Amino acid sequence: MSALSRRRLLGTGALAAGATVATASPARASVPGREASVSVDVVVVGGGLSGLTAARDLVAAGRSVLVLEARERPGGRVYGMPLGDGTTSEGGAEFIGPTQDRIAALAQDLGVATFPTYNAGKNVYLRDGKRSLYATDGVLGAVPPDWGVIDLEAALLMLGGMAKKVPVGEPWKAADAEDWDSQTFHTWSRAHSLSAGARFLMDEFVSSTLSARSKDVSLLYVLNYIASAGNESNAGTVDRLINTKGGGQESRFVGGSQEVPVRLAARLGDRIRYNAPVRSIGVDGGTVTVTADGLTVACRRVVVAMSPAIANRIDYSPGLPAARAQLMQRFPMGSIAKFVAVYDTPFWRADGLTGQAVADGGAIDATFDNSPPDGSRGVLMGFMNQSNIRALDGSSADDVRAAGLASFAALFGDKAKSPVRTAFQRWDNEVWSGGGPVGIAPPGVLTGFGPALRAPCGPVHWAGTETSTFWTGYMDGAVRSGERVAREVDAVL
Ligand SMILES: Cc1cc2nc3c(=O)[nH]c(=O)nc-3n(C[C@H](O)[C@H](O)[C@H](O)COP(=O)(O)OP(=O)(O)OC[C@H]3O[C@@H](n4cnc5c(N)ncnc54)[C@H](O)[C@@H]3O)c2cc1C
Repeated sequence: MSALSRRRLLGTGALAAGATVATASPARASVPGREASVSVDVVVVGGGLSGLTAARDLVAAGRSVLVLEARERPGGRVYGMPLGDGTTSEGGAEFIGPTQDRIAALAQDLGVATFPTYNAGKNVYLRDGKRSLYATDGVLGAVPPDWGVIDLEAALLMLGGMAKKVPVGEPWKAADAEDWDSQTFHTWSRAHSLSAGARFLMDEFVSSTLSARSKDVSLLYVLNYIASAGNESNAGTVDRLINTKGGGQESRFVGGSQEVPVRLAARLGDRIRYNAPVRSIGVDGGTVTVTADGLTVACRRVVVAMSPAIANRIDYSPGLPAARAQLMQRFPMGSIAKFVAVYDTPFWRADGLTGQAVADGGAIDATFDNSPPDGSRGVLMGFMNQSNIRALDGSSADDVRAAGLASFAALFGDKAKSPVRTAFQRWDNEVWSGGGPVGIAPPGVLTGFGPALRAPCGPVHWAGTETSTFWTGYMDGAVRSGERVAREVDAVL
């Protein structure tokens, strides 16, 4: 039998006596590259935060669980990008903030501490070639002081008011859902602002939160994203989405965010199989057969824990109900990359800068100070969002590096041109992510197909941050979705 022994699957402490376990399928004849079939209560497809959390809770409920993960590592969109000197920097998810209670609780349980994102000094705003500095503790908060700001503030206020009317997690039930889902955010923002500055900043709001262009997303989707930026006792707000202090970018994890999935995966031990991309899920009566490279698993329920677009790469038999099948065709990922430069010191701090910036014109449109907690070296991180990263399609590593450093130099001065090293992580050509940070809904999708996001299809259940009510798109949403799906599955087993 494989390294994943049946004893190991069934025999650990959390699996209480009386736990229901499906009968093992007969062992297959030995075929090169394939292994004997195994059988568990639940297969979780995907070892990102949602899948790992679901597995943790199902194991705690006494269920036998196997996680099948396509990559050679856990974490999915949470990834420690190697810097080439034995250390890492967050190549994917990074920040955590107030009301993100479930990722906070998970990190605490795993002993992963947080520290404040560096936020002392002024931010940089670069638009139309003009560079200015601004404090973020004024009335505008994180909003840069563009001439269009009055226009912008009025529009943001309106957006906040509309978001309050969206039932969190069920935006298709909003009274104005049809109207709001019949237009892109671009259409709405042009109708509600006159100045070029306000329009740029509204586009930047979508770019920096969704890594999409405002013409790619439905207004209803953006409103739900705002509504989702809260918890059961605090309504979501624009400020909580965009702010560093008091917002989603407030803190970082000591040792890097990947510590969370890595430690959670360690707890699950041999219940995770890596390098095991699931190719098909077949349902026959009460048995589900999950076929991955090198392994076939029989189970009673399967949790597909990933974005709808990536879930669409699996072959389902019989076919899924049309609403779900079509939802998965209509929920694309944003395009996103992170470019990181390492310096001997965080030199921008001495210049009175936070390391945070908003910019147009270059490859990078938003930056953060990604230095370690003790500031023992300087790490600048720049987001290459939506069309900026697509413009670098086919570019050499040297060209990407030159484009990233040119952006940093325009924002933070010539010292930025001489890093000790650089690193780059692009998500839209990662086979098992297809982009990031999150799946986005163009007009018509939420009202036409939204309920299919979470609705199980027979024994096939759905998790992933895209299915979350609160903090959809974030690590917190992924954890919440894993907790929700575990309750859902446990209740029917
Ligand atoms: C650049 C970037 C920056 C981000 N910044 C932040 C941030 O600062 N804060 C924050 O909270 N969130 C951030 N996010 C979003 C966050 O990463 C996600 O919301 C969260 O990690 C999603 O977790 P998930 O489990 O839902 O999905 P995923 O992490 O995508 O997990 C899905 C898993 O399924 C696996 N998989 C896919 N197909 C198959 C298959 N066929 N068989 C088996 N396995 C499969 C994948 O390899 C992956 O491990 C960011 C994301 C990106 C990309």
